[in-house]
Amino acid sequence: MTPDELENEILSLEDEGHKRLILVFGEHPSYSPEFIADCVKSCYRVKKGNGEIRRVNINAAPLDVEGFKVVKSSGIGTYQVFQETYHKETYAKYHPGPGPKSDYLWRLNAMERAFEGGIDDMGIGALFGLYDWRFEVLGLVTHALRLQQVCGVGPHTISFPRIKPALGMNIELPYEVSDSDFKKLVAILRLAVPYTGLIMTARESAAIRDAVIEFGVSQIDAGTRLEIGGYQEKSGDQHLDKEQFEIADSRDLDLVIRWLLQKGFIPSFCTSCYRVGRTGEHFMEFAIPGFIGNFCTPNAMLTLAEYLEDYSSQETKEAGYLLIEQELDKITNIKRREEIKSKVEQIKNGKRDLLY
Ligand code: SF4
Repeated sequence: MTPDELENEILSLEDEGHKRLILVFGEHPSYSPEFIADCVKSCYRVKKGNGEIRRVNINAAPLDVEGFKVVKSSGIGTYQVFQETYHKETYAKYHPGPGPKSDYLWRLNAMERAFEGGIDDMGIGALFGLYDWRFEVLGLVTHALRLQQVCGVGPHTISFPRIKPALGMNIELPYEVSDSDFKKLVAILRLAVPYTGLIMTARESAAIRDAVIEFGVSQIDAGTRLEIGGYQEKSGDQHLDKEQFEIADSRDLDLVIRWLLQKGFIPSFCTSCYRVGRTGEHFMEFAIPGFIGNFCTPNAMLTLAEYLEDYSSQETKEAGYLLIEQELDKITNIKRREEIKSKVEQIKNGKRDLLY
């Protein structure tokens, strides 16, 4: 995309109510650290009304330490890269080279270089379906332990996409993961790395997302479009001829928010940790013992209230405020409850970006 096209995409996302983005870059050499940093800065710069992007995460090919420093200086939240498969022989089979992606260890050690470059929010993942899912789960958990040992900081997020039909794909997949095993692997990851964010994307169907979100998935996407320039097209139609792979849950953001509300979850657009400096080791101090919930829950209510005021449908707004009321009632500390209540009122009266 040209810079103008990128700006229009960001405006379309802001118009929907998004506050957090992940920018996914490929392996092409023209995606230099400087190019990535410029894209990130554009996301923060482009604003419309109450619309603004408050946290930009990136998924990009492994860089060297200097490259990571450049990317970090643009203000990224999480740096995410997936190992694809932790099984070396399978990795070599699917990435025969030439090219940097064929180097298993360069990819595996990307997070440690990122950390050296100043990035302390790291997202790991595996593409399930390339090799035995049990091995990939072991790989992810071992990677998490290694980061804790070497950097003092475990992964901020773990992703577990399942391989899907994709443009130009013609490979046999003997290790395809069934729905039942998929549920198991998410539950195992939740138990094994309880402090980390678990990300489930719209590659999975609404039915699977409905089941698996109960196991402690904490981050999902909504209204995702994969084709270039896709956010400016308002139709819900998919364009598999242009998309990288198939999106199974194509519900728009408002519908996904309402679905979460109906399940009793508070959809959150919170970006506060990163913005108040609660990252890396500092974040782990709150996340590992679970104290982070004292920030997450009120921030979820406040950012949800912003969404309800600025972007939601009437039906979602009613469901949203009902849940906020119920959540407020659960807070036993009266002073705290009144404080949050007052902030929700301020948001109704036009205040924005109140955070803990
Ligand atoms: S307060 Fe909770 S939801 Fe908000 S950024 Fe921190 S961990 Fe995420």
